Amino acid sequence: MIKFNEIKYERINYDKTIMLVNNLLEQLVNCNDFSEYLELVKRINSIQNHIEEMYDYADIRNMRDESDIFFKNEIEHWNSIKVKFDSLFLPFYTELSNSKFKEKLEKYLPSNFFKIIEYQSKTTSDDISSLAKQENELKMDYRNLNKTKIEFEGEERTIGYISGFFSNKDRDTRKKAHDTINDFYYGKQNEYDNILFELITIRNQIAKKLGFNNYVEYSLYKLKRIGYDYEDIRKFRTNITNYIIPICKLMSDWQKEELNLDELKYYDTIFFSEMPQSKISGIELLNELKNSFKDVDNQLSILFNNMVDNDYIDLVQRENKVNFSITNYLTESCIPVITGNYKNNYLDVQTTTHEMGHSFQKYCASIKDKEYIVSPLLKYPTMEIAEMFSYSMELIMMKHLENIFNEEDYKKYCFMKIYNLLGNLPYICLVDEFQEIIYSNKNLKIEDIRKTWIELVKKYHLEKSNSGHINLDEGGYFYRQSHIYLDPFYYIDYALSYFGAFSIWNESDKDLVIFKEVGSVASYYSFKELINKYNMPNPFDKKTVEEVSTKLKKELESKRLVRR
Ligand SMILES: [Zn+2]
Repeated sequence: MIKFNEIKYERINYDKTIMLVNNLLEQLVNCNDFSEYLELVKRINSIQNHIEEMYDYADIRNMRDESDIFFKNEIEHWNSIKVKFDSLFLPFYTELSNSKFKEKLEKYLPSNFFKIIEYQSKTTSDDISSLAKQENELKMDYRNLNKTKIEFEGEERTIGYISGFFSNKDRDTRKKAHDTINDFYYGKQNEYDNILFELITIRNQIAKKLGFNNYVEYSLYKLKRIGYDYEDIRKFRTNITNYIIPICKLMSDWQKEELNLDELKYYDTIFFSEMPQSKISGIELLNELKNSFKDVDNQLSILFNNMVDNDYIDLVQRENKVNFSITNYLTESCIPVITGNYKNNYLDVQTTTHEMGHSFQKYCASIKDKEYIVSPLLKYPTMEIAEMFSYSMELIMMKHLENIFNEEDYKKYCFMKIYNLLGNLPYICLVDEFQEIIYSNKNLKIEDIRKTWIELVKKYHLEKSNSGHINLDEGGYFYRQSHIYLDPFYYIDYALSYFGAFSIWNESDKDLVIFKEVGSVASYYSFKELINKYNMPNPFDKKTVEEVSTKLKKELESKRLVRR
């Protein structure tokens, strides 16, 4: 495996590409021999793969070191032209959909492909490129605003650094960290409100230009929600309200008991007074995790070792790095890449296993993909499928982390794993419903945005984290939720994916057979097709959610630390 930094990068010339693609396309349209036709399809596909790989490579280098001017310029260039590159291939998709060889083609292209291009062509057009550019600029404004350094204990600090103190065992320190951040958001209320309001306006314009009623409808196509819609998602949110919120109330009671408090405040963002601590961190953690992965599966272990040793995993904390974690997949090299910024707390273990779930899924798929011509449109499974593998890997790995913690902390880690998954569900639904409302309100005024949030906080019983500071009382909690600004409507996918993740985990006791089997074809099916094919729990179904909730509640109770 070549070292990550040694991958050759080049900026791709748009004018040359368009000439080349149009020429190949012309040959394709006029081709009457199937094997020649197939060769042309492969050639166009490999041009696409090259574009994707270069784009991703620049993006990853930029995420890993935002002070690197070369890749900063490259990604700015890409952001201004990627939409144009994407729409360049629309006539190619049209040709494939209407191909005289369509029946034969279906043996070489995964079945989901044609459905995906139908969805893709509804959301891609040259007509929206100037609006998309404006959207990107607003997203950049949001990112820059979040990079503001704030004074904390006499030093200029980032939001990411300060939020590290949210899990501090000292209540006053936690309060100080929360207050610093809330004060900051409150001071920038107008700016955060304005950016979101403008984003909603522009996104709805994009949707209208493409023939949708609003961005909510557009989001179903953008996120390839094939076979289900907002009707189903609403059902899902109701299921969470009915079956998960009662468990969350119980969890709050346990938390009060554990922390010995009469009332929980917005700064009580810990469960145990001493949160679990891993024995090691940083690069040592990565090296020790090699043993954990080796415990589980040989292929998984080889992949992890290779990725660590050749810098395809870059998680160690540094300045000038992004504040989130992500797995990318290089479409030419066929290798997953993990980028993130360790926080030096117990969540680093979780982050690594999560991203490794994504990476191992892609690894399994890369083997299967050799049997097909796989378009970059199928580079990742749709999100509610993709996250099944990351969450199931977090859960599968739980049993193999005793080397990372001391005994008590290990038990706490396992408890927190289930606790966090369950505890997040109502909040995820809140974010989703918030977006559905603000994007579908035709006469939305800027002041409606925070009002909507406040109302939903009550509905989902999240007053604890959303009141007590003026920023929270005025509905400004969501400023920190980057998905709302950067990836609208992609948040509910986490919640939808949990149910598949639980079933992969349940069936992975001995080995990773199910993980590998489903993972290798995860991009080839839509969400509903996949869960039907592999008999996985359907989150839109009331009974299923009820059953899964009961099991998880038991799991949580069994992992609860008994105190004397
Ligand atoms: Zn993920």
